[in-house]
Amino acid sequence: MTTETTVASALDVSALVADLRAAQPAWESLGLEGRGYWLRRYRTWLLDHADELARSLQEETGKTWVEANIEAPYVADVITYYLRRAPHLLGERRHRAHSPLTLPKRQVEVRRPFPVVGNITPWNFPLALSLIDVVPALIAGSAAVVKPSELTPNTVRTAIDGWAAIGAPPVLACVSGAGESGAAVVDEVDFVQFTGSTRTGRAIAQRAGERLVPYSLELGGKDPLIVLADADIERAANAAVWGAFCNAGQMCTSVERVYVEAAAYDDFLTRVVAKTRALRVGTPGPDFNLDVGPLVSDAQVEIVSRHIADAVDKGARVLVGGSISGKLVQPTVLADVDHTMNCMREETFGPTMPIMKVDDLAHAVALANDSEYGLSASVFTRDARRAREVASRLEAGAVNVNDVFANLFTATLPMSGWKKSGIGARMGDHGLLKYTRSQAVVTPRITPRRELQWYPYSRLRSGLMLRALRWAAGGLPGDR
Ligand code: ADP
Repeated sequence: MTTETTVASALDVSALVADLRAAQPAWESLGLEGRGYWLRRYRTWLLDHADELARSLQEETGKTWVEANIEAPYVADVITYYLRRAPHLLGERRHRAHSPLTLPKRQVEVRRPFPVVGNITPWNFPLALSLIDVVPALIAGSAAVVKPSELTPNTVRTAIDGWAAIGAPPVLACVSGAGESGAAVVDEVDFVQFTGSTRTGRAIAQRAGERLVPYSLELGGKDPLIVLADADIERAANAAVWGAFCNAGQMCTSVERVYVEAAAYDDFLTRVVAKTRALRVGTPGPDFNLDVGPLVSDAQVEIVSRHIADAVDKGARVLVGGSISGKLVQPTVLADVDHTMNCMREETFGPTMPIMKVDDLAHAVALANDSEYGLSASVFTRDARRAREVASRLEAGAVNVNDVFANLFTATLPMSGWKKSGIGARMGDHGLLKYTRSQAVVTPRITPRRELQWYPYSRLRSGLMLRALRWAAGGLPGDR
């Protein structure tokens, strides 16, 4: 099978998944070492082609050169991490008997992959989000099909052609098309991985639920950043500006709202405004001379402009930015915002930073939690104890202390959305284990002609068995 890149109809998706399904058992039986050989070769291919992939990413998305260059090495890093971690996670586990009655049984738990995994991905990090969830699936022994966003299909297609180019087994394919192609993937695969909007995530969960196939969803976010009065305000301001405007704010984990304790508010605002004003905005080329590029689509520009207009209508002040020309939105800092404004409640996914003054830690936490989303959050303070207190009260899958989305680069930790931000997790141990099912293999150590609990039932044998069960179920003397 060659990598299929132009599939659109449900029938085509079905045939493509059938090919993957046919190729998967041989891939699984290569074992971890055999699969690792191909993943290592693919890592080399990705790094050798990083420049070409970055140019293609920039063409499709308008990303700055730094942001376009990060994706391929990021995927390579994930390959390295999971190849190192997989032997600990995928190896057979022998369990000790939980009760004297099961002592005569050898108890082994093995992990077996879901045969075909489907990964449906968005346009903001086309390459990274298509591959970082596919890498652990391949390492686990699954075959995988990626359905990239219809807005950004080319880089992903090139990268998946790279898998075929190194001569790897035909267990990785790409499906093109829009929502219908994604739906067709959901209808065929054994596990659905999805990154995108909460609205589409819900549709996918419904369909996967009907088919009774498992899924993992990374959805929207409205990440808060809290600045306590004792924070290093210079670092907090630098972090907020990068966190809000990186990738032109088109990140599920970007800083979407900021809460600052009253005593630090003016200082923080002054610094943030100066730093935002200094950003170099424009349409980037293959050079490091710009900080913020255009948005990906007119639809995104429309949302951002609506959020700014709504905030201003309701009394917010634009401290810097606010102007829009084509797809270029000037990074915009909004002050005097409150939770009646869309910019504080709906996901903006653009270069805006609404900032609100809060009374204290409790006020900040209450506002941060006043959201249907719970992806990640940041807190800035010099007091480690207060940082932990904030973390323990925030409803978010990740809390970055004195940092912004640092958890995205810690492959060891799970990235999981709480509330409407997702179900399941990527990265960390769970990011690989989720592609596997555990299989219990039980083997008797001794094989009498019949066991005590088998037929025929009798007063003597069954009574003996029940007495032994009651004795063991009650716990051993030490447990009583
Ligand atoms: P956005 O609105 O930001 O583009 P979406 O969540 O709509 O984000 O899209 C993310 C991915 O989901 C894209 O690859 C898109 O084609 C796909 N998609 C959209 N609708 C569906 C659907 N009903 N079923 C499966 N995939 C879908």
